[in-house]
Amino acid sequence: MTSKGLRVLEVFTSIQGEGPFCCRIALFIRLAGCNLRCPFCDTKYSWDPRRGRLIGLEDLIAEASGYNFVVITGGEPLLQRRQLNDFLEALWRRNPHIQVQVETNGTLPAPEPHEMLYEAFYVVSPKDVPVSVEGAKTHSTWFKYARTSGRVWFKVLVHSEEDVIRVSRWARENGISSGRVYLMPLTDENMDREALLEIHRRVALLSVKYGFHFSPRMHLLLGLK
Ligand code: SF4
Repeated sequence: MTSKGLRVLEVFTSIQGEGPFCCRIALFIRLAGCNLRCPFCDTKYSWDPRRGRLIGLEDLIAEASGYNFVVITGGEPLLQRRQLNDFLEALWRRNPHIQVQVETNGTLPAPEPHEMLYEAFYVVSPKDVPVSVEGAKTHSTWFKYARTSGRVWFKVLVHSEEDVIRVSRWARENGISSGRVYLMPLTDENMDREALLEIHRRVALLSVKYGFHFSPRMHLLLGLK
């Protein structure tokens, strides 16, 4: 049976600030609920799965009309896996050319070939490297999916060379090529513009040194959502 809809916290238009689709304009759909409690989380309001409102699939499809790029974020979007599959099926039936990126913490299993979710692009933000959040092991299926599909990238927050060395070891141990990994500056809310630029520059140089992609956090630099 098709699901009634998705539990949504907010829908907004912005520039994708990070990762492989950085700087593209997108419709963001932020889903409610997360299975982790990361101390550095900047969207703690997304943790409670009862927050937000249930939005019907047709209404969400109407919101996406006129866009060619939709980002599903959270929270942890894959907690609503069945509903997301239904949404993507309906969305692509209506607009086969729209691209969808799903952001995930990677602790739940990766999509299987029989799921609509398999056709989306994924940006996984692992929470077990360079430091571990309790209970946040990256599910092994993401490494296989990344190796075989070309639809998966990992983006990792770092602030020092030791962090980057840990990420290198993690990628090697899990068979992930450096071209699948973006390093991003670990920032905090007290940083002024100068400090933000300084850590961006430091992580960019470390990315070059260790052969990873670099991702800015464009929305922070520009003061966007
Ligand atoms: S996985 Fe993401 S949304 Fe969930 S607690 Fe961690 S940072 Fe926040």
